[in-house]
Amino acid sequence: MLELTTPVQYVKGIGPRLAEILATKGIATVGDLLNYLPFRYEDRLNPRGIAELRAGEMATVIGEVRNSGLFRTRKMPIFQLTVGQGRSKLRCLWFNATYLQDKFKPGQLIALYGKVEQDSRSGELQIMQPQFEMLGDAAGEAADEKTAASLEVGRIVPIYESAGQGHVSARWFRRIIRKALDDLTPEITESIPSAVRERLALVSPREALWKVHWPEAGESFEDLQSSRTPAHIRLIFEELFFTELGLELKRRQLKTETGIAFRLDDRVRQAIKKILPFHPTAAQKRVLKEIADDMQQPHPMRRLLQGDVGSGKTIIGFQAAIIAIENGYQVALMAPTEILAQQHYFSARRILENAGYRIVLLTGSLEADRKREVRRHIAQGNAHLVIGTHALLEEKVEFAKPGLVIVDEQHRFGVMQRLKLMKKSGDEGSAAATGRPAGQTSTGALAEPDVLVMTATPIPRTLALTLYGDLDLSVLDELPPGRTPIITRCVADDQSPKVWDFVRKQVEAGHQAYVVYPVIAENEESELKAAIKMYRELSGKIFADLKVGLLHGRLDADLKDQVMRMFQKGELQILVATTVIEVGVDVPNATMMVIEHAERFGLAQLHQLRGRIGRGAAKSYCVLMTGGKISEDGQKRLDAMTRTNDGFEIAQLDLELRGPGEFFGTRQAGLPSFRVANIIRDAQLLEAAKHEAAAVLAGPNSEISAEEISRALVQMRTRWQHTYGLVEVA
Ligand code: ADP
Ligand code: MG
Repeated sequence: MLELTTPVQYVKGIGPRLAEILATKGIATVGDLLNYLPFRYEDRLNPRGIAELRAGEMATVIGEVRNSGLFRTRKMPIFQLTVGQGRSKLRCLWFNATYLQDKFKPGQLIALYGKVEQDSRSGELQIMQPQFEMLGDAAGEAADEKTAASLEVGRIVPIYESAGQGHVSARWFRRIIRKALDDLTPEITESIPSAVRERLALVSPREALWKVHWPEAGESFEDLQSSRTPAHIRLIFEELFFTELGLELKRRQLKTETGIAFRLDDRVRQAIKKILPFHPTAAQKRVLKEIADDMQQPHPMRRLLQGDVGSGKTIIGFQAAIIAIENGYQVALMAPTEILAQQHYFSARRILENAGYRIVLLTGSLEADRKREVRRHIAQGNAHLVIGTHALLEEKVEFAKPGLVIVDEQHRFGVMQRLKLMKKSGDEGSAAATGRPAGQTSTGALAEPDVLVMTATPIPRTLALTLYGDLDLSVLDELPPGRTPIITRCVADDQSPKVWDFVRKQVEAGHQAYVVYPVIAENEESELKAAIKMYRELSGKIFADLKVGLLHGRLDADLKDQVMRMFQKGELQILVATTVIEVGVDVPNATMMVIEHAERFGLAQLHQLRGRIGRGAAKSYCVLMTGGKISEDGQKRLDAMTRTNDGFEIAQLDLELRGPGEFFGTRQAGLPSFRVANIIRDAQLLEAAKHEAAAVLAGPNSEISAEEISRALVQMRTRWQHTYGLVEVA
């Protein structure tokens, strides 16, 4: 009997080699395999008769191979297959498909799926490039033939994404998953408390697993395709529920932990006001109050500050820092890039140093001597505000008295990374990362530092609340006054002379400009060369009379620093850069940005980049230059950019275009990675899961027994451990 936790290679038919291929799909256990859901279903119970097909429909057709062959046109070889049902015939075509040449034998039964089209010349119906599956005679499987056939025709059939470059096909998955279900233990623990199950009318795990792969004949085909059958809902809810349970538990634990109750008396209030270089917006005032209220609580703060690019998060971070410093604590401010850390360092010095606060910068690229010295300052408590990159975490910097950790632009860090990070600065006690002695409370116990995360990724509020279930949320929904909307245009790069003329006009009017090049990881070297080459062209010819600088990630830190500083001071008029300037860079006099190969950038990235301009009162312009072919999605991104400056609108579209995984940066292991759930499609279930998770942890009570809670928690831990490995939910 297989358990859900059994490693997948113990399923009959899967050896070590196939297990390896499955591992690339994240399938390690039987449970993973069974949660590998069909991405669509084919109705082979009621397949379409060829005679009744209509042009334009997606159809499943089951027929007999009549004949097939390759013919060559001037452009390419085309493979043609004719299938028949009695007297009706249907033609299928594949381009460039020499590999299909010896694949079909007359008389074979075949299932086809694709879009029916009308041939423009003959008027006959045909399917171009259909997906297909030969039915019931796979070589070497003769004994299984009958069962195999029964899995493939005369029913609703699950279609899976193949894996390992086609090594494991949809058909293979179908059989192996069937096998796993057949051998699955009848006793699967039900870990969702019964009150929750009843409220959501959830079916049992076993029933869900069976029916999601092998739907019964009466099942609504539409519900299946949209993942809305009871079986789907059970599995999706289950996944979301245990994720939310983990986040909720985390949140509750924090509320019981001892934190620092910062005092906010008149003296501190004065100090906060004194540094302000401008009048805060109403939103800034409100958000600061939320943060200050939180910091006064005797429990650790875990707060997310969300605000579009340019909404003025930095000053709020500084104000929160002052609260901590005035209470005698140290503050760490972490940025995702060195450039941004540098910039924060400069503005912190500009804004805070006069008031007597001592600020240090600690980044990975500092010389060893200097680093040692800085670390000593921190350890001795001389430094009030420590600004750095996440090297701050990795290098086990010891703080004398850590009070507040601020993480800027956290979308670069990712949700799960954040959990790790908080663990370091928090749960392990301050011993490992933040050093000791940690802040002492009046009772002498170790106190957790507060954490404020600042992000420019606007996420619809409900989604944010649910996804960042472990954080409280503040939203900065107002831009500082006097901003004029950025004007964005999209042009082909053969128009570049006009664009450069325009850049020149801006510079002559006393402003500055960015010219941005994409550097994409896979092809970094050659892209980088392109940026450097373009820099030569711009600085040597087109803008030979102007001061042009170059900034990219490979420059050594001193040089980067120098270039950035020159641009900030206006000593450079044009800055040619890669996306290193994407995050946070703030030079209000820069009013112009040209983004080359804009079609290659992601939407969020374009928005972030554009956020570098439009920061002052003068009108700003963003030119998206495109070169070469633009994909459909690429065009949508460009259109969105020219249409709107609204970060929320852009975020929503980005989420839809890229899907949640990319959006939240799974690439950095930053996202709670969902196997069956999709946070866009399943937003409502996500809400329900959050709600129910909170209800469960509020127990035990007449609805939910202590035993049910502990069973749910055991399951939750197993899942978190399995999915996120090191990230631990205590
Ligand atoms: P972000 O939220 O993107 O981090 P910043 O904190 O860098 O934004 O602020 C963007 C710019 O707006 C900075 O130049 C900052 O000094 C300025 N700024 C912030 N708040 C205000 C305000 N209330 N009034 C005027 N300017 C402001
Ligand atoms: Mg910022």
